[in-house]
Amino acid sequence: MTDEIVVVPGDGIGQEVVPAAIDVLEALDIEFAFREVDAGDAVKEATGEALPKETREAVASADATLFGAAGETAADVILPLRRAVDSFVNVRPARAYPGVDALRPETDLVFLRENTEGVYAGHEARLTDDVSTLTRVVTKNASQRLAEYACEYAAEEGFTVAHKANVMRETDGLFRDTVLEVADEHDVPADTVLMDAFATHVCLDPSQFDVVVCPNLAGDVLSDLAAGLVGGLGLLPSANVGPERGVFEPVHGTAPDIAGQGVANPTAALLSAAMMLEFLGHESEAEAVETAVEGVLSDGPHTPDLGGSASTAEVTHAVIDRLS
Ligand code: ATP
Ligand code: MG
Repeated sequence: MTDEIVVVPGDGIGQEVVPAAIDVLEALDIEFAFREVDAGDAVKEATGEALPKETREAVASADATLFGAAGETAADVILPLRRAVDSFVNVRPARAYPGVDALRPETDLVFLRENTEGVYAGHEARLTDDVSTLTRVVTKNASQRLAEYACEYAAEEGFTVAHKANVMRETDGLFRDTVLEVADEHDVPADTVLMDAFATHVCLDPSQFDVVVCPNLAGDVLSDLAAGLVGGLGLLPSANVGPERGVFEPVHGTAPDIAGQGVANPTAALLSAAMMLEFLGHESEAEAVETAVEGVLSDGPHTPDLGGSASTAEVTHAVIDRLS
């Protein structure tokens, strides 16, 4: 069966790194049906809508989506796209690679971030000119779904739950207790850490953590912090996983400071494509792409963010050369 892949490059360097990922996917011995659609600032400028209905429907029915980035309109684009595939977990690996300067070369973490609620559930209000509020939503159901996934993902090694239940007793309390309950039912080892303490511990010694299960906002912030430990945003892929479909995207944004110059690091997008291959059941090809990317990170060529002078295209071709 041909996998139907929706491609949404979006804005900024999304227009550069997503095509690079497509070039790599096309070099594999798998048949894909690619369909490119628009989302983001540029399409809003042109049509008034950041996320055209056609794009949302395409994502909701494709096997998987490869997304780049959206600028000002990011929240109007990626949040509905995550909902379109009912994505309940955002998987964010943060690994240091030989050949890349990293603050903490021993870092090898995976964040499993709750992807539907918390403070990103969208219940914000402006009560008066001077007072605004935010309602945080945590449900047992969403915490359970995330925990079930974590138990499968980390069945052997177990995981750490990062939370702030000492202050947010009801919301983070429910989150932490539910996740621990599910871990216990599955006999998966799980421990807990206060998320602020985690921020310090992970900088001092990331080797003490492996898989980290987090509420939505904490997962967003702590995984960006981990990006700093491994050498920058250009390296980190992510997967928005739903029960049947997924949206795969680099953690970085549109990088307006370097957009249009052809020098964006394609690594995060290529590793996101590898996560998509694995999700679609193409495990050996996923591994081949990862190995090729690791080889190029180790031996070069490197884009300027990693201290090199290669273009996006040169790095992409080097990866493709290693595949054949
Ligand atoms: P946005 O609002 O779209 O997130 P931003 O200004 O926050 O835009 P990011 O894309 O989040 O930009 O990137 C933050 C910094 O990291 C920028 O300086 C950018 O150049 C750098 N960066 C991010 N991704 C890459 C990449 N793939 N290659 C090289 N540098 C990158
Ligand atoms: Mg950003």
